[in-house]
Amino acid sequence: MPKRVIIIGSGPAGYTAALYTARANLRPRVYAGSVSHGGQLMTTTEVENYPGFPAGIMGPELMEHFRKQAERFCAEVVYQDVRRVDLSRRPFVIETDEGRDDAHTLIIATGASSRMLGLPEEQRLLGHGLSTCATCDGFFFRGQEIAVVGGGDSALEEANFLTRFATRVHVVHRREKLRASKIMQDKSQANPKIAFEWNSIVEKVLGEEKVAGLRLRDAANGKTRDLAVTGVFVAIGHIPNTRIFEGQIELHPNGYIKTFGGTKTSVDGVFACGDVQDFTYRQAVTAAGTGCMAALDAERWLEHHGIQAEES
Ligand code: NAP
Repeated sequence: MPKRVIIIGSGPAGYTAALYTARANLRPRVYAGSVSHGGQLMTTTEVENYPGFPAGIMGPELMEHFRKQAERFCAEVVYQDVRRVDLSRRPFVIETDEGRDDAHTLIIATGASSRMLGLPEEQRLLGHGLSTCATCDGFFFRGQEIAVVGGGDSALEEANFLTRFATRVHVVHRREKLRASKIMQDKSQANPKIAFEWNSIVEKVLGEEKVAGLRLRDAANGKTRDLAVTGVFVAIGHIPNTRIFEGQIELHPNGYIKTFGGTKTSVDGVFACGDVQDFTYRQAVTAAGTGCMAALDAERWLEHHGIQAEES
């Protein structure tokens, strides 16, 4: 028997979709991933902007709550990676290393990953002075001197935001020309707390247990120098996790899934929510919101096609 709903992804969007479809007695199955389940919040420390937690909560603990709440209503969480999907057949086919599944509706909540610099110390220092989210972690750098790596709108937006807390924000960019929009460039250049480190390639993030600085190589003359900062925000873009859907579903030119009027995708019965379709807001709370929308959209789709929920 095909599943009524399969959800791929276990961040705030995936688990919220699971919670809502489970409470509608649709018995969803969630493919949570084998290693990196829980999404981007698993790599943050304290989350202070998720409503309902006035004292803040650690990212992994928040995701544990999401999972338990979905499981309480009998969502089935499977810790496997989906390797392939076939959306041209009905029911849809979902394949993992361990088997294959069929589903009448599919909710894609595979998220996006921050593009990283690719340095070996990045994983060790993530959450220990190294961050990919100024909105999440900026507050912890009050009174400190920090750096933002990147030259696009995200980097400058984060740099401007971070000047609320930091004494100085160094924007480290590998070229001498910014990619960001003119308005954002003007705003940043007029901000007295922002300094630009041009032609600077990050060679190493310094510090053993927490960030102590950046080793920068001058792209023009190859010379290296150390910049003493206690925080580093990597803002060099995101990569949506859409590889397994390429060629089967309509994507924006930047690789994110196109949604139409809510969470519908170009394939009837396939819904997308969270960061995999959102390159504007990218917040846990907005991801959870669209997860709820996807669940309601899937529920309506099933009802419209005469596929019943389970009797309680
Ligand atoms: P982006 O525009 O692709 O910029 C990425 C930046 O990171 C570029 O400056 C790039 O350098 C640099 N970079 C990439 N890989 C790097 C590496 N390995 N090492 C060092 N630097 C690297 O990404 P984004 O800033 O996240 O913006 C994505 C989209 O969202 C854009 O369309 C942007 O306009 C939009 N956005 C808009 C707003 C807003 O309007 N408020 C805010 C945020 C984002 P190069 O320039 O040398 O390639």
